Amino acid sequence: MELTNIKTITNLLEEHGFEFKKSLGQNFLINPSVCPKMAALSGADKNTGVLEIGPGIGVLTKELCKVAKKVVAVEIDPRLPALLEKTLADYDNITVVSGDILKLDLKALFKEHFEGMDVLVCANLPYYITSPVIMGLLEQHLPIKSITVMVQKEAAQRISALPGTRACGAISVAIRYYATPEKGFSVSRGSFMPAPNVDSEVIKLNINKQPPVSLKSEEMFFKTIKAAFSMRRKTLLNCFSKEFSISKESLTEILAEAGVSPTARAEELTIERFAKISDLLEGLVK
Ligand code: SAM
Repeated sequence: MELTNIKTITNLLEEHGFEFKKSLGQNFLINPSVCPKMAALSGADKNTGVLEIGPGIGVLTKELCKVAKKVVAVEIDPRLPALLEKTLADYDNITVVSGDILKLDLKALFKEHFEGMDVLVCANLPYYITSPVIMGLLEQHLPIKSITVMVQKEAAQRISALPGTRACGAISVAIRYYATPEKGFSVSRGSFMPAPNVDSEVIKLNINKQPPVSLKSEEMFFKTIKAAFSMRRKTLLNCFSKEFSISKESLTEILAEAGVSPTARAEELTIERFAKISDLLEGLVK
């Protein structure tokens, strides 16, 4: 079954009485070149397990099944598993799990399905939950080697931006602690059905074997990043004094000790500076 063929998709969806739900970010890929390229970029092979998020009608799932040892696809829409049974009937290495990726116990899922395997994540993400999905996967310290995802172009730029550059945001710094972004390829809006209002990009996050900085407290590090970027146009001194109940005098001293000007803005800081500031704040912030 050619899952990128518009006629095939329309017939299939009609047969199952399926209508697209915008609220679930349902834009299905119809460009036949994208999924094989994504599967190749993910690096999946016969020794790897792949976690897919949001298989839709299975267009990417199928490509992953061809190359991986096992694929587990988590889909929130209860109308899709029956349809997937049909579209993926040729593959015996697929398990579809019904559920919300943000609520499932992923540690248990990994234990049940991927014991003893290298695991990758590969997905055309529903864009309304791009950040919580990526951060959730990273924060849980799941045993994964990489995350290859299609996201909105602007999100890809933000995620990949180097800390210390204008394009960076809280997520750019937070992600670098766990992973190193790698550029994939661009995908135009016309590659989807229905076409979204934005273009997309595939990126790969290679999980770091060791974090780039050692910290007194991970929790304080992420609090520091969040506070620093809470008001983009304000100075670090203003952001920190609003978020933390510490005097401006003490904060100025902390910034000086970290080698940072009190008038600097979050986008000017490297990950090492964030680490230094968070170590100095640790114990002072509740
Ligand atoms: N993989 C398919 C493709 O490339 O054509 C579909 C991708 S579509 C952009 C996103 C998919 O994620 C939809 O199938 C949608 O139902 C599913 N989805 C949305 N929110 C989800 C969630 N919280 N957990 C799991 N799946 C979700």
